[in-house]
Amino acid sequence: MMGTHRRTRTTPAPCDDRLDDVLAWIDGDLPAARVRAVAAHVAGCPGCASLVDELRLAIAACRQAGDCRVPSSIHRRARTRARAIIRRG
Ligand SMILES: [Zn+2]
Repeated sequence: MMGTHRRTRTTPAPCDDRLDDVLAWIDGDLPAARVRAVAAHVAGCPGCASLVDELRLAIAACRQAGDCRVPSSIHRRARTRARAIIRRG
């Protein structure tokens, strides 16, 4: 057995490219034409899926507190976290 096990990635686009779309999707700002592509990526990407879960919880908490707008601090945190997930993955 050789020690070189390379993980081949079949992901068509890197998560970095999807990040803006994912954030827009969660905000409800993503054009319907792109929702399917983003949803499909998230469905097949554990990193993005956990990010979406986390953001949805954060947003739900904001809305329950009576604030309908997603604070930009959450966006910034999401980006940082997403990058960390991507680098690790
Ligand atoms: Zn992803």
